[in-house]
Amino acid sequence: MNAMTPSHLAYVPFVSVANMMKLVHHIGLERFLIDLSGDIEADFKRWPEFDKVARVASHSPGGVIELMPTADRALYGFKYVNGHPKNTRTGHQTVTAFGVLSDVATGYPVLFTEMTLLTALRTAAMSALVGRYLAPKDADVMALIGNGAQCEFQAFAFRAICGINRLKLFDIDPKASEKAATNLRAHGFDVRICQSAQDAVEGAQIITTCTADKQYATILTDNMVGAGVHVNAIGGDCPGKTELHRDILLRADIFVEYPEQTRVEGEIQQLNEDHPVTELWQVMRGDVPGRRDARQITLFDSVGFATEDFSALRYVKRMVEDTGFAVPLDLLADPDDPRDLFGMLERAKPV
Ligand code: NAD
Repeated sequence: MNAMTPSHLAYVPFVSVANMMKLVHHIGLERFLIDLSGDIEADFKRWPEFDKVARVASHSPGGVIELMPTADRALYGFKYVNGHPKNTRTGHQTVTAFGVLSDVATGYPVLFTEMTLLTALRTAAMSALVGRYLAPKDADVMALIGNGAQCEFQAFAFRAICGINRLKLFDIDPKASEKAATNLRAHGFDVRICQSAQDAVEGAQIITTCTADKQYATILTDNMVGAGVHVNAIGGDCPGKTELHRDILLRADIFVEYPEQTRVEGEIQQLNEDHPVTELWQVMRGDVPGRRDARQITLFDSVGFATEDFSALRYVKRMVEDTGFAVPLDLLADPDDPRDLFGMLERAKPV
């Protein structure tokens, strides 16, 4: 049976990791990132239509497990995601995720999917989309600090959406930089591995920080961020987990997804609660300006918001149709008489 045309609602289309990879290659990575960024932008432009809540986080000494729900009038989506920076030491990912999209009218799930790859894709698509509004127009070099799982996706999105092909990489683990450089050079990126974060940021008009460490880290100090630079800070996304020195925040114009969540989780947890920030949905709607002048320091204090995952879930649902990359999952009970759940169980009793 084709997963996307089930004969009854009880089968939920499921996209595995293997099939997500097939879907990305089927569409093409850059096309995927461009189209997804368009969907994210369209949803930010209709921001008031969404139910919004800061994600529900369960913290432990080694990491965090989070639930990220949102809904418009037609669809409901949520993502389960973790963040455990020490996981890579035991061969596990820092970030893994899966998610569900549901029909608001019936409450029935219409998609169940892996979201580890999809999170890297949507985070990169969002970063580059914001870069389009905030990065200097003549930017052609990006520093990428933290060369783990998210790194190459960020590079691809910034090339596809902002035209950046020159990269300066730095990671405290040289093996991570070598891995990223090999992956990226194979796709025509002009890559230089740097010996320090200071070296990486020199000459870069865009600085992306995507490190993982559960502490108030200082990946960038104030002297490292010159006038006119755009900082895309994605690794500070939990209470007690930041990447930038506070003084940078005091000099920058700060742009955020959902202030109620970012004030708890983002770089701005280091600032007073009333420190002014600009909401990106207003920039995307043209209500307030993005970058105003060439000397302004702009900061995207990225933490990742539920509507970005909602956009990604809906995009995957649309694109996976008729591909065979979604398999039907027997996830929901479907008794012939909806009120005879018990009868269904009885009939399944082994004889
Ligand atoms: P990862 O563990 O695969 O990679 C992180 C890399 O950072 C590692 O290679 C590590 O060596 C490096 N690193 C750690 N401390 C460093 C330092 N001081 N200087 C330079 N490099 C350093 O993690 P990942 O999956 O790539 O995620 C990166 C970060 O992005 C995590 O903090 C994660 O929580 C965050 N993230 C944010 C979003 C968002 O929407 N904002 C989405 C996904 C992931």
